Amino acid sequence: MDISCKSRVNISSSKGIISRSDCFTEKPVLCASNGLLSNVVKFKDENQAMKSRIFASKHNWMKITSIDVDYWKMDGGVAFGVIPKSLWKKVYPEDIDNLIRITTRALLIQTAEKKILIDTGMGDKRGEKYYSYKYRFGGEGLISPLAKAGLSPADITDIVFTHLHDDHVGGATYLNDAGESAEFFPNARYWCSASHWEWSKSSNKREAAAYFHDNLSPLETSGRLNLIEKEGKWIDGVEFRIFNGHTRGQLIPVIKIKDQTLVFAADFIPSKANIPISYIPAVDIEPLVTMKEKEAFFDEALQGDYILMFQHDYNHEACRLVQTEKGTAAGEVINIRELN
Ligand SMILES: [Zn+2]
Repeated sequence: MDISCKSRVNISSSKGIISRSDCFTEKPVLCASNGLLSNVVKFKDENQAMKSRIFASKHNWMKITSIDVDYWKMDGGVAFGVIPKSLWKKVYPEDIDNLIRITTRALLIQTAEKKILIDTGMGDKRGEKYYSYKYRFGGEGLISPLAKAGLSPADITDIVFTHLHDDHVGGATYLNDAGESAEFFPNARYWCSASHWEWSKSSNKREAAAYFHDNLSPLETSGRLNLIEKEGKWIDGVEFRIFNGHTRGQLIPVIKIKDQTLVFAADFIPSKANIPISYIPAVDIEPLVTMKEKEAFFDEALQGDYILMFQHDYNHEACRLVQTEKGTAAGEVINIRELN
């Protein structure tokens, strides 16, 4: 049984009316009335087996696979903004050039109906000089991990772009024999937030180097580009949230798998070391907005025991959060494959 949030607020118990915050277990409370996904009611005194059966019947089969598309390096100062090196180097080791190893991680979501990719890495359209500036040193790419899953690029039904910076969207296109940028996933529908698509077109000078016409024009002319106007449910098991501190309209997928909630944190929280509220990358366009977004989101994430998946953390795929005297901190480290 699925009950909308409005009706849930008035559910009675032997103790009387249960408020929205106390009628659920510590697991996610996702509410339709604030634009989020409605979910199965979970009462505190319900037994776990019953909860699992209800959840399984509500959500179709899903398998998720983390893909380390690119390995590259970034200046440690860029990764941590105003935080001095004496502090960030304790949580993210640097090399002699002050660079830290990072990844661009993508997520493959397979359901009965869909084969979805979240982000695509930076691709190969630019010359070696460009990639040498990124200190790229390998990665799984996309073809081999998809093949391991029994898939080819033509099998991908949907690609969700968290945002359109080159390291997230570049791999959706390639240079064909004529030297033109062409779609690498010929059947995929593309998804991006409407506000971010418009923002990428207006291309402020600060972010200009991250947007490339040859990344975006094949998507635009494909006839398969879909722009998300609002936060909320996308498909069963996946909802979108929108954050604005890193760039305008960053789309953050929140995935329900079994009884867990996985947040593909993208550049909202790029690594485990970026969890402390003020550890915000220097590239964020509005760090004070990021700070407020993190504070509000961490309250929700702690209450729901969410798992954050890190797109740029070379050393950790994901972790839970814990509350400490010093604030929100990293908790149990998680491997994505263990969530299947
Ligand atoms: Zn970005």
